[in-house]
Amino acid sequence: MVNSAPNLYEADLHCHTTESDGLLTPTELVHLASELGLKGVGITDHDTIAGWKEAEKAGVDDQIRILRGIELSAEWQGKEVHILGYFVDGSSSYLDEQLRGLRKAREHRMLEILDRLEAQKIHISVGEVRKFVHGESIGRPHIAHALMERGYVKSISEGFDRYIGLGAPAYVPRYKLTPEEGINIIREANGVAVLAHPGVHRLEGGIPEWVKMGLQGIEVLHSEHKLDDEKRYHAIAQQYNLLTTGGSDFHGEGIKPGVVLGGWGVPIDILDQIYDLAQLN
Ligand code: AMP
Ligand code: ZN
Ligand code: FE
Ligand code: FE
Repeated sequence: MVNSAPNLYEADLHCHTTESDGLLTPTELVHLASELGLKGVGITDHDTIAGWKEAEKAGVDDQIRILRGIELSAEWQGKEVHILGYFVDGSSSYLDEQLRGLRKAREHRMLEILDRLEAQKIHISVGEVRKFVHGESIGRPHIAHALMERGYVKSISEGFDRYIGLGAPAYVPRYKLTPEEGINIIREANGVAVLAHPGVHRLEGGIPEWVKMGLQGIEVLHSEHKLDDEKRYHAIAQQYNLLTTGGSDFHGEGIKPGVVLGGWGVPIDILDQIYDLAQLN
């Protein structure tokens, strides 16, 4: 049992597992959260809810609360807009259909990226990427892993910088929703829509219109937010009467150095606030 570090939050509401591009299985993630002394953890995989069930089982064993979540990607004025959906109804056939479409688009994009790598004389097969994919939501980190394994790069970050990140030669944009579509998918499925890490792409200009479309919260604390961002988005959340949430965006050790589980988050009672809000849908 690791002693709980004093600087960890009670609940980390933004985490990825092997069901998308994280390195830990839902069970491993929950066990780690428990060892660190967290009381709650949000499972927010990209375009899939497949990790919930396993996480909840582990959560019962570890007596740690699981927040059912998802992360969708949209685009606005050429910038990435990520939207977290909490307590979306996992039995919604509409949600299932939308998520399947998004995952399918991820598959096509992976093939396009491999074609572009090929044009750069970087030979990575689909199978070599698939070795790193454990769930149904494929992402660039899986390709970066394959690049690393084949010795083309020394780290995941180098893979993004040299080959598949924005502006790099094998970059292919992912199919993206509009923010309105993202918010609608979540609200249609009775979830709570929260704007993820707005500081990463300075999204404050869009917030007023997204609130009108049904946005209900802002992720104020996040591993890529600076103190300035926290202050700015906290003030905006107050102004529009939005929930303030927080999470690390943990993907596993070594994916982004310095991003530790529980290092960003919220007090555990925020989970009840989010749950209560979902009941009003
Ligand atoms: P995708 O969803 O396929 O576009 O991949 C985006 C994911 O890649 C993000 O969720 C991050 O986890 C990861 N990512 C993006 N940029 C970097 C980077 N420079 N280094 C490591 N991981 C990155
Ligand atoms: Zn990710
Ligand atoms: Fe994100
Ligand atoms: Fe994320």
